[in-house]
Amino acid sequence: MQRKIQCFLSLVCALLVFCAAACMANGTTYPDIIPDQIAPESKPQTKLPLKGIMVAINAGHTTATNPRVPYNGDGVGTHSGADTIVLRYPGNNLAIRGGRWNGVIRESDLTQDLAERIARRLENLGARTIQTRVHSTETTFRGRQKNLEARVEKANKAKADILLDLHANYGFRDERGFMLFIPASQKQSTLFRPGVSFARLNEKIHTPFRDVRLQKSLAFAKCLYSALTDANPIPPFWEGLYLSRFYVITHVNMPAVLIECGFMNIPTDMRLLAEPSYRNDFAVWIGNAVCAYFGR
Ligand SMILES: [Zn+2]
Repeated sequence: MQRKIQCFLSLVCALLVFCAAACMANGTTYPDIIPDQIAPESKPQTKLPLKGIMVAINAGHTTATNPRVPYNGDGVGTHSGADTIVLRYPGNNLAIRGGRWNGVIRESDLTQDLAERIARRLENLGARTIQTRVHSTETTFRGRQKNLEARVEKANKAKADILLDLHANYGFRDERGFMLFIPASQKQSTLFRPGVSFARLNEKIHTPFRDVRLQKSLAFAKCLYSALTDANPIPPFWEGLYLSRFYVITHVNMPAVLIECGFMNIPTDMRLLAEPSYRNDFAVWIGNAVCAYFGR
């Protein structure tokens, strides 16, 4: 009996040594997988509601390489307060490092960051994306015009289903909030100057003009409006929805909306925009809006 136990113990020891050696050889230990425990039809881990959709993302402005920093390369654009201490974010991943403009965040860098986060989010939902920013340091009107034309061409060539144009605002002291701009014809923009209410826009605008692209842009703006008013700590500025003749959204072939994400000169808005976690949330809301627009 004692001999049998000894024999058994030495067998167990041998097995343990063998297992330990095998584990060391592999570097890691894995539990055994018994084949019939694997679900026969394992469903995909992630849903891809935006499969087949192409989204163009235009990061507004370009980054200046001229001495007029913090202004942006295409001659316009804004920045967090170059002349204030509270709106400088030294050490922030978007901020200018060192020198006279240390800690200032440019609109061009903010929109680029947002564009990348939104693209990642949309791609995770199954969409394809194209970034339409064209780099340029032109500050002349003609140079700027050419830059905008090149962006439009990129979006049109890619045959994007929708275009999102990203910007951030600058205004008077007490103004804050996000704004959505939909393209309009010259006649419409004259008839419905900004100041028309969101409700009236819903009912009256675009439909009488029989412009499908503009109607679809309005539908997309509505989806963005509800996604951005749901959990967003940045409220809509006044009614939140405006008509415009901004070049990119006016000239592309697909439905398009321009977003002013908030006011860069207002601490309540800019403090949030400077936060990577806020920008991640923003990308999620945009993803929700795009899904809603396509009924996915
Ligand atoms: Zn802008």
